[in-house]
Amino acid sequence: MLDALGRDINYLRMSITDQCNLRCFYCMPAGWSGRADLLSFEEMLKICFLSAGLGITRVRVTGGEPLLRDGAAKFCKDISLVPGIGHVSLTTNGALLQRHLPELAGVLSSCNISLDTCQAEKYKTITGGGSLDKAMDAIFETLRLGIPVKLNCVASTAFDEQDALDLASLAKDYPLTVRFIELMPIGPSSGATLNGDQIFALLEKRYGRLEPMKDSVGGGPAACFKPKGFAGKIGFISPLTSNFCSSCNRLRLTADGRLKPCLFLGKPVDLKALIRSGASDSELKEAISSAVKGKPQDGCPSKGAVEEGMFRIGG
Ligand code: SAM
Ligand code: SF4
Repeated sequence: MLDALGRDINYLRMSITDQCNLRCFYCMPAGWSGRADLLSFEEMLKICFLSAGLGITRVRVTGGEPLLRDGAAKFCKDISLVPGIGHVSLTTNGALLQRHLPELAGVLSSCNISLDTCQAEKYKTITGGGSLDKAMDAIFETLRLGIPVKLNCVASTAFDEQDALDLASLAKDYPLTVRFIELMPIGPSSGATLNGDQIFALLEKRYGRLEPMKDSVGGGPAACFKPKGFAGKIGFISPLTSNFCSSCNRLRLTADGRLKPCLFLGKPVDLKALIRSGASDSELKEAISSAVKGKPQDGCPSKGAVEEGMFRIGG
């Protein structure tokens, strides 16, 4: 699907729940207890099927914590069987991942696991009670099963140089990608102590020149590097200091069934309302296409903050 600016929109991120078993301070507002009227898996599969017919080839399952929803692993498998969908990936905090890995192996093209620090107490504080051991065990088991792992490391106000060095050292020792992500002004908290450029400079000082990997700069939001002697890679997703809207290829489906053309701007299309009012497949396809047509040129985070947290939109 080409949008008005000629960008090929081929990537759908689906939030399958707005519930979470953790409480990351920058994502979930304190005291959040809401629960959206979620799309059923059947409704989401229908959207996937129709989107694939329009040119979506990659799907990411996310949330909230996607693995909190019963049947999430089977849903990933079902999506992978939709004709035209070549890549299915999952974003998770890892707390429940291990028990689902046998079902997910062979289905996922990759698994993103969130990890903002390697210090147990700090992890607990950032996540509102999470266990670093559980997240680490999940990371190693995912690798052991041969599923490519990307670590999402958000540089929030709690993040410091030691975190950057500790996390980078995981990519030195293991064949995974550590991605440093600038915190966007979405949800309850914004601001940071280190931006992507500063983390980059810190790592170059420690590991020497970071050579860009040819196939990873410009292909997606992460600019990737493989320092000498590293088993894995380092990536930077820097929406604040290095805007990548011109190559954005994604749509987002919120857990309550709104299709968002952009994290920041553009009018969401209420697919749930359409499905439940009996819209035909061609009307639904038309609605999906209209979201693509409404994709803004530049949803640059500096244009304003988004109150609705990432756990609702689907990160
Ligand atoms: N619960 C899962 C997890 O934590 O991986 C999936 C959903 S979570 C919303 C997806 C990703 O969004 C996480 O890596 C999280 O750190 C990130 N995130 C949350 N709020 C963010 C923000 N304001 N800016 C950038 N990333 C954010
Ligand atoms: Fe939950 Fe993920 Fe948000 Fe943390 S970042 S509160 S794990 S949805």
